[in-house]
Amino acid sequence: VAGARRPTAASEGTSSRPHGPKEALEKGEVPVGCLVVHHGEVVGRGRNEVNETKNATRHAELVAIDQVLDWCKQQNRDYTEVFANSVMYVTVEPCIMCAAALRLMSILSCLFMLGNCRFGGCGSVLSISSDDMVDSGEPFECVSGYRAKEAVEMLKAFYRQENPNAPKSKVRKKNNRN
Ligand SMILES: [Zn+2]
Repeated sequence: VAGARRPTAASEGTSSRPHGPKEALEKGEVPVGCLVVHHGEVVGRGRNEVNETKNATRHAELVAIDQVLDWCKQQNRDYTEVFANSVMYVTVEPCIMCAAALRLMSILSCLFMLGNCRFGGCGSVLSISSDDMVDSGEPFECVSGYRAKEAVEMLKAFYRQENPNAPKSKVRKKNNRN
């Protein structure tokens, strides 16, 4: 029974959990990972796949949204009803693009571990999650600071490991300006 309850799309090939932030870290991606939970069940997972796919839009949140849509198709469920009753857990505050996507899908709420002062779309740079906007989905609830210490350690490990994909050029540019 437990097996039957597991979402097929999300569990396919995930026996070694390749979708978490730690796996992103191992693959040289910025360690951002997320889960979408619907009534206590994981219906989508995502990790940052930007470097791997050479596609700057493949943020963990968008990967997870695609999985939820696949899950809905397989379960013959209405995705609007599923998103409206789902919570996303994510390492870093969704960026402006992802916050807009979550809003368009009318997700119930989003819990993130760390704010994102450069790109955050849930209050840090823009407030896509809560602003009054016409024809752009429903505002959603955001909770920050969830297991923040763990997230800080993971991000520190990423920037420590001298990864070829780490955004060093940006750091250098910043230093030159100073
Ligand atoms: Zn994003």
